[in-house]
Amino acid sequence: MDKKTEIAARLEALRADYAARLPGEIARLKELVALALVPEGQADALVELAQKLHKLAGSAGSFGFPELGKQAKKLELQVQGWLNSGTLDIGLLRVFSVAINALTGELKPVPAAAPLLPLGSASGATGSLIYVLEDDPDLANELSVTLQHFGHQVEHFSSIAAAETHVLKRPPDFMICDVLLATEPHKTPESITRLQQQLPAPVPVIFVSDCTDFDVYLAAVRAGAVGYFVKPLDTIRLVDCFENHLDRHRSTPYRVLIIDDDLALAEHYKLVLGSADIRAEVSNSPREIFSLLNDFHPELILLDINMPECSGIELAQVIRLNQDWLRVPITYLSSEQDEQKRALAMGRAGDDFLSKPLSDLELVTAVSVRAARSRQLSDALDRDSLTGLLKHSRIKEQVDIELSRAQRSGEPLSVVMLDLDHFKQINDSYGHPAGDKVIKAIAHLLRQRLRKVDAVGRYGGEEFVAVLPRCTRAEAQLLMEDIRKRFRDISFSVDQQTFHVTLSAGIAAYEAGVERADHLLQQADAALYRAKMEGRNRVCSSPVAGDN
Ligand code: GH3
Ligand code: MG
Ligand code: MG
Repeated sequence: MDKKTEIAARLEALRADYAARLPGEIARLKELVALALVPEGQADALVELAQKLHKLAGSAGSFGFPELGKQAKKLELQVQGWLNSGTLDIGLLRVFSVAINALTGELKPVPAAAPLLPLGSASGATGSLIYVLEDDPDLANELSVTLQHFGHQVEHFSSIAAAETHVLKRPPDFMICDVLLATEPHKTPESITRLQQQLPAPVPVIFVSDCTDFDVYLAAVRAGAVGYFVKPLDTIRLVDCFENHLDRHRSTPYRVLIIDDDLALAEHYKLVLGSADIRAEVSNSPREIFSLLNDFHPELILLDINMPECSGIELAQVIRLNQDWLRVPITYLSSEQDEQKRALAMGRAGDDFLSKPLSDLELVTAVSVRAARSRQLSDALDRDSLTGLLKHSRIKEQVDIELSRAQRSGEPLSVVMLDLDHFKQINDSYGHPAGDKVIKAIAHLLRQRLRKVDAVGRYGGEEFVAVLPRCTRAEAQLLMEDIRKRFRDISFSVDQQTFHVTLSAGIAAYEAGVERADHLLQQADAALYRAKMEGRNRVCSSPVAGDN
């Protein structure tokens, strides 16, 4: 079963469960109305009635009973009115009782909409498929070799005709095209535009050209250009543009924490968000909030307001008392319509409000927009501007987080410290800007070769740390060897001069007994030092515990 079908099936099962429970829920409402008619139990019955109707109003729409949800909301407001005023008109209660009975007529669900398509599927550490359309064999070769070093699969064509059938049969993730191919009567952008029209989704293109005419730029944009490079070609800058574009599309799914006492509804939200590639964790237990935050690191919190043990407003204030979580945006998700209560909620803590019931599309859009903004702000604070990698303090924190996780799960964990060799000489010989290009290139290579679960940071100027969960020492060694060789083979060029740079790396692996993150980092650093001492351009590993 593919992911979409599986999600549809699970959503359907949740709807069926909900539908099966509804007659019981409505029977209970009827009982409560009967109890409210007797003075002794009246107050308790009204309170429970209001709670049950509130829950129904918030959830029925999401499970295929929108009309039932609307009726429940009206009835809830009526009961709230009685509770607030402290008076109950028995005549009105009888009319109310008829309305409750009529709810049974709303038990036919509307058909479920198809689950949403993922907004973007993340490709993980596997490379992209790139078609290079270039008739200059030297340039084509240089591009192919460089892109292959970064882990991509490259196919080369020297004419549109040769590329066309391949593009249609197996559309690539990316195209790099020369604007003028000797064999073509037209400029390539025009042919590419025609080709794009036959594809299910446009393929991003980088154009390579001798000319800087406005008309060619415009034609390039119309053909789906995300980059335009004028010859002589700086291949590393081209890769930079290409990787930045890919990064935006292969970013890890957003993480959203949902706290709601209605677990069935929260599960529904989780599945809907999952169908759009957003990871959600749900809980109905406000007490667990800090362990949930620590384990999951959400980028957005969705909070129900009315919960029995502790209200959403109180919980938002609890979260805000903890300095560690000041940054996470909190959105209330509630069917509360009382303006005063909403204003109160916003005044205490929390950043904004979403009203239940919420359509699936509204939910996904609202969550994506907020989580994207949250990540953007976090990135600006946490990431190094030259490389986009995590800053020193954040990557250290990541070692901490993954070490705790490995200690709990007993799974392996490797930490790598990596440093460019004789980098000072590179700066001295080719200039600081050339050095910066090299630093960007290693950052791209690391991101390209590592998995989504891995974290990589710029630890110092030309020093990097990678944290590799569920990765043994031997696996880390293989991976780093691969990265070392690929990096060694990349050609950098400045003013017609070509040069290569190498790297050294030290690996430390978590073994039972390592208790602190800084010990792991020290071990990796010691292994890196050994790699430098043994001649550089190599990967060394810290001694296995027990060996001497
Ligand atoms: P080793 O092989 O022992 O690591 O030698 P090295 O020359 O790489 O080491 P050293 O630590 O002596 O020099 C690191 C150099 O990296 C010095 C510094 O100018 C340069 N560097 C640090 N950050 C940047 C940066 O952001 N851009 C550029 N271009 N150079 C940087
Ligand atoms: Mg160095
Ligand atoms: Mg250094």
